[in-house]
Amino acid sequence: MGELEKEVQYIKGVGPTRAKSLNKLGIYTLEDLITYYPRDYEDRSKVQTIASTVDGEKCTIEGTAVTSVSMRMIGRCRSIEKLIIKDETESCTITWFNQPYIKNQIHRGDRYRFFGKMSVKGGNRELNSPVFDIIEKNNNTGKIIPVYPLIYEVKPTTIRNVIQNGLELAGNLEETMPDYIVDKYKLMSYNEATKQIHFPNDFENFRKARRRLVFDELLSMQLGLLKLRGENNREVKGIKYNKDAKMSDVISDLPFKLTGAQLRVLEEINSDMEKDKPMNRLLQGDVGSGKTIVAMISAYKAVKSGYQVVILAPTMILAKQHLANFNRILEDYGITCEGLVGGMTAKQKREALERIESGETDIIIGTHAILEENVNFKKLGLVVTDEQHRFGVKQRSTVIAKGDNPDVLVMTATPIPRTLALILYGDLDISIIDELPPNRKEVQTVAVSKKMENRVNDFVKKEVDSGRQCYVVCPLVEESEEEDMAKLIPATVLAEKYKNEIFKDYRVECLHGKMKSKEKDEIMTRFKNREIDILVSTTVIEVGVDVPNASIMIIENAERFGLAQLHQLRGRVGRGEYKSYCILKCAGGSEATKERMDIMTKTDDGFVIAEKDLELRGSGDFFGTKQHGIPEFKIANLFQDMEALKEVQALAMQIIAEDPKLESSQNIKLSKLVEKCFTSKEEITI
Ligand code: ADP
Ligand code: MG
Repeated sequence: MGELEKEVQYIKGVGPTRAKSLNKLGIYTLEDLITYYPRDYEDRSKVQTIASTVDGEKCTIEGTAVTSVSMRMIGRCRSIEKLIIKDETESCTITWFNQPYIKNQIHRGDRYRFFGKMSVKGGNRELNSPVFDIIEKNNNTGKIIPVYPLIYEVKPTTIRNVIQNGLELAGNLEETMPDYIVDKYKLMSYNEATKQIHFPNDFENFRKARRRLVFDELLSMQLGLLKLRGENNREVKGIKYNKDAKMSDVISDLPFKLTGAQLRVLEEINSDMEKDKPMNRLLQGDVGSGKTIVAMISAYKAVKSGYQVVILAPTMILAKQHLANFNRILEDYGITCEGLVGGMTAKQKREALERIESGETDIIIGTHAILEENVNFKKLGLVVTDEQHRFGVKQRSTVIAKGDNPDVLVMTATPIPRTLALILYGDLDISIIDELPPNRKEVQTVAVSKKMENRVNDFVKKEVDSGRQCYVVCPLVEESEEEDMAKLIPATVLAEKYKNEIFKDYRVECLHGKMKSKEKDEIMTRFKNREIDILVSTTVIEVGVDVPNASIMIIENAERFGLAQLHQLRGRVGRGEYKSYCILKCAGGSEATKERMDIMTKTDDGFVIAEKDLELRGSGDFFGTKQHGIPEFKIANLFQDMEALKEVQALAMQIIAEDPKLESSQNIKLSKLVEKCFTSKEEITI
């Protein structure tokens, strides 16, 4: 196995400079190199007749050189090389630039195979800068060629050669899976799979190779998570909350009736809290499903059992909102809540910290400020993180470490398809609120183009005149120099335009992440108090903000947002008794944009949207797996490989049930795989 740890620099064709380029991609050792998998493949194995080739498409053709290569100089040091070839159907011109040496490689009358992009103009065919082989050779053509993610400093042919050399050097790779699994699931050997994934003989072999490597990846992750969960469950003793601290005491006093889903979830939480094992629970519920009240009632139970509670929110706006809500309801029960956010004066903060440390404050609601070292608790019993996707697993564990095995409730509105949630959060128990409170008004969603602008503005005026409020969300804060962004409307610019022109008779304000927290706070408060009609903002309002009087959400450059994000933003309206609207403004109307906007207008089911998002954008982007603290996949794709995932999960559960620590001799290899998959992922501690 020693070879696999060899530094890439010492692999044939690499050297110090290329080694640096490869290092940037996280490739340091031979093993990293051979597990750097192709992004795609180019099938150069199927030879087409010249007549059947299509303009603009890549093709492989074979033909006899009917001329020799001619060369023409353009300018002093640039040249064009031309050749005409012919097969039984047609002839074709081949063109290269600045490759004079080709003249000596191609001989009139001999047959060659070419691969390149065809252009057909007025019946004339021309293949531009193709790669080629003499017919008996399959160097550049005649096979399936791997395409690696673009590396700027290294040419595609070079990286292919380097990987080829790497594979040769690595020799026969040791099997990484126990035989019983390889046999049972009829997996290709690890050695074969690694070779075939880079240079497949055919697509059948590629498929088998990919299945094998995906299997490895998913199984290691699953086993790792299940093992971790087992360890958490068995080894630590947590808090056993008081049975007499009854959730129902608050529930019966609430101004509204909890939904069936909320009650069910509270029962699950209550039961966890009364066990002496620490709760590790994920609470998932679509935007507006009422997660906050669930957190509040859980906090009530903890406080009434003599413990302190932390509510961790991703933004100050949200923290303040929670604080107001908690105070409004819990004050009557003699519970004291306190905010801890950035931007407090030194004195305010010192006093707050004292009250927290002495136990005078029961519930501490705040942002990252809670994570700071000088924040100490008297008796921390419950940690709730709201909108978990905004926090890394590590940040969560920092707070948890401030207590003595406190209970943990993680709340998220990122709708994760259930199967996936089980996999991503294999270490947490899951509760789902799958029901919205009654009387929720449906949010009518429309996608509009620039042409509709005036109508949209008139509509906003009409709604505001009848007492409603409006959000306008822009993708950027300020104008951007970057070419790609230059066309986007920034929040500050739009707000000025609204204030001074279009909505000059209305109260317009701007809110964005670059403002001081005090300013943000003040604007949000004024919006809540209905002192602002139109709030132009960035996505700072994406999570959690609850202003029931707002009935319109306008999203500028909606094509720039992911579906899950659009869904979150839309969730800011439709929270009160008023009919609400979400208007998606799109610049440009590519097919992909149309398809995405169609999904938004047709469904308001967060789960459906999440699945679509996953399908359209792939898992990496959507889940930000890194944020979830889950190892990143090199080859598996959570959407594409859903079936494999289910198969693997069943297997992982069976293995862990029989051998919870992966200690048996037949599982030694699995234990190694898991270790590898989770090394340097010390983040996963919950
Ligand atoms: P989210 O799950 O997105 O965090 P919130 O907790 O902010 O949702 O709840 C959204 C709104 O619904 C709040 O104004 C809250 O008071 C209200 N709400 C929560 N549960 C109920 C219920 N059972 N009946 C009526 N309104 C509810
Ligand atoms: Mg919320």
